[in-house]
Amino acid sequence: MAAINSNFLKLKAGYLFPEIARRVKAYSENHPAMAARIIRCGIGDVTEPLPPAAVQAMHEGVAELADRETFKGYGPEQGYGFLRQAIVDHQFAGLGISADEVFISDGSKCDTGNILDIFGKGNTIAITDPVYPVYVDTNVMAGNTGDADAQGTYAGLLYLPCNAANQFVADVPAGKADIIYLCFPNNPTGAVATRAQLEAWVKYARANDAIILFDAAYEAFIQDPAIPHSIFEIDGARDCAIEFRSFSKNGGFTGVRCACVVIPKSVCGQADDGSRVPLHQLWSRRHTTKFNGASYPVQKAAAALFSAAGKQQVAALIAHYMGNAKLLREAAAAAGLPVFGGVNAPYVWVGCPPGLSSWDMFDKMLGEAQVVITPGSGFGSAGEGYFRISAFNSRANVEEVCRRLMTLAA
Ligand SMILES: *Cc1c(COP(=O)(O)O)cnc(C)c1O
Repeated sequence: MAAINSNFLKLKAGYLFPEIARRVKAYSENHPAMAARIIRCGIGDVTEPLPPAAVQAMHEGVAELADRETFKGYGPEQGYGFLRQAIVDHQFAGLGISADEVFISDGSKCDTGNILDIFGKGNTIAITDPVYPVYVDTNVMAGNTGDADAQGTYAGLLYLPCNAANQFVADVPAGKADIIYLCFPNNPTGAVATRAQLEAWVKYARANDAIILFDAAYEAFIQDPAIPHSIFEIDGARDCAIEFRSFSKNGGFTGVRCACVVIPKSVCGQADDGSRVPLHQLWSRRHTTKFNGASYPVQKAAAALFSAAGKQQVAALIAHYMGNAKLLREAAAAAGLPVFGGVNAPYVWVGCPPGLSSWDMFDKMLGEAQVVITPGSGFGSAGEGYFRISAFNSRANVEEVCRRLMTLAA
């Protein structure tokens, strides 16, 4: 009989979003008259259509594939040079990143999970709490943790608590970590790290020979010019950081699928014999062995986001969602709730009224306002007492959510 990877049995089987779906379904069945009123602000998925520049480039890419003269088969596994160069020119200009340090993929979810392929066993892995669940679950699958307790906290991970006291930006730990996951702007809290805070992390990583895995999926939502968009804006990061970028949230590509990993050639890990090995070399081997490239029309569409028209259209999308975030922030504050995030990120992170847990608040919002939010405890035990409202929605829906927030019974 085939032995399985028993680490999968340690997973809190898809606990958060299936439970949300179950409660929404039960509510709809018990209150059929209310079902049509439900507005979903739970899952972080974009709602607005693709920028026209990307649509046009995708059509052109398909037309090329339809013609014998311009047909293309397998592309370069690392991604087409035109897209890697456009990413360097438009997102990493002046930061010392070269196009051959950029690896195109079909998404950051896969990249942040797959990256564990190139790391060995026995690393101390630091994860913020609350956190994007993918970082935790992929470490569980890889056998880097023990079992979970009732709150879903896994033995063997170094949790970095994020709370109102540190404005949801984790402090560097007292002890030693080997791999650190950072996500800024943050999902779920909407927090951003200042330059000084990122400098402290890079300093810590260099002092401890640690690697920072920096997820910048939401960098396009940063409004404050003083907040860094890339970890590579920090001196020394080229020696200790890997950055993940995605077109999902800026270009609305969640259904199109395109992202990239940036691995400077100077970032190293340690081999069993103690020698230093560039991670770029390992990821290149991994990527070219297990991946055959994102599709050509999709890479053309991604590159079109950097055209003059594409940039304007992306800016308009971001302005739309950030306008939503502002309205949601104001409404939650007017309802007397503590509000975080939503200024440089499309997520508003809200404190529950006194005495209510995250799931109590979920039930109250669903039952009294027919609004679906995400309970903070689903992102980690430190998320208890908070909930996340996503700004990814139409303006009409957001305005209605705001009206309903204001009328919630105290
Ligand atoms: C949405 C999101 C991503 C992007 O994932 P894709 O697979 O590229 O769609 C990455 N990280 C975080 C934290 C996200 O919320």
